[in-house]
Amino acid sequence: MPIRQLPDDLVNRIAAGEVVERPASVVKELVENAIDAGAGRIVVTTGGGGISLIRIEDDGIGMDRADLVLSVERHATSKLTEDTLEDIRTLGFRGEALASIGAVSELSICSRPAGAETGLKLEILRGERRGPLPQAMNRGTIVEVRNLFAAIPARRKFLKSERAEAAAITDVMRRLAMANPEIHFRLEGADRTAQNWPAARGDGALAARLAQVMGTDFGDNAVPLGLSRHGVVVAGLSGLPTYTRANSLSQFYFVNGRSVRDKVLLGAVRAAYADFVFRDRFPVIALFLAIDPGEVDVNVHPAKAELRFRDGGAVRSAVIRAISEALGAAGFRAASAAET
Ligand code: ADP
Ligand code: MG
Repeated sequence: MPIRQLPDDLVNRIAAGEVVERPASVVKELVENAIDAGAGRIVVTTGGGGISLIRIEDDGIGMDRADLVLSVERHATSKLTEDTLEDIRTLGFRGEALASIGAVSELSICSRPAGAETGLKLEILRGERRGPLPQAMNRGTIVEVRNLFAAIPARRKFLKSERAEAAAITDVMRRLAMANPEIHFRLEGADRTAQNWPAARGDGALAARLAQVMGTDFGDNAVPLGLSRHGVVVAGLSGLPTYTRANSLSQFYFVNGRSVRDKVLLGAVRAAYADFVFRDRFPVIALFLAIDPGEVDVNVHPAKAELRFRDGGAVRSAVIRAISEALGAAGFRAASAAET
């Protein structure tokens, strides 16, 4: 076959494979958009484990007609310029999510910015655009995704049961809620997964949100982290060595407000607890790291769950020290770990 440039909708469907793996990844992308839009309240409704319906309603800044039309185009974003790639402060920046989701579902976006007389509704049905048409609504944005992967049986086959997909959505929501205590989140659905996490404010906001999401038991069995060292700020709650689990599912890591999986952080926590916890046990932890955006590359993976620290050693020693100090204050003094 001769070489040819692929048509846009085919490019979008291929790219969608990277950005939207399963319903939970759609929820993550859409809720991140709502957070980036400055929402104070985000309501997520799902049906059929998110396969038949995902609906996200926010009270953020909304989009005018021109932005609404552009939002579903590939590589169209309001969040990135040549100058900011090294300094990303929003959750999104690739401008791929809505285009990708539109390529593999029935997508509708209703949006109304402040000052507009009415909202507008744009639909993408099997790659075909309909609208924008006027739509009565409050300020903000409502995105609905129906029949995810209906046209891609191969991908649909890889989805787990509706219950498992619903559980994955709940997990994504928990992480987003933990990272954003000042936002009110509701999760509704026929999947027995209803959650309501009212906004928490002020000094105790993070602790309050962690109690909402992880249960008050954790707070009663954890020590607060607080350390600022060489540009790395460590916060959160670290479980007592007497409060462990058989796996790492109760370890939550956040870097600059983004939930991540990272070997440096996992290794640092393991090292900090090495003297107190058996190797097959995992302390419960919610660890929040703030670091200069220029010191971390979040552009490694399309779903952005992975990242790369420029100076992993500095991060490791800051985390170990933060945990060692907190545990030390609670009477758990390590023989070796403190200066690692
Ligand atoms: P990205 O988030 O990487 O910019 P998306 O495809 O997720 O890419 O969104 C494209 C653009 O659409 C965003 O940059 C933003 O301007 C706009 N947008 C998406 N969702 C919302 C929302 N809930 N509220 C306001 N604007 C939004
Ligand atoms: Mg986005």
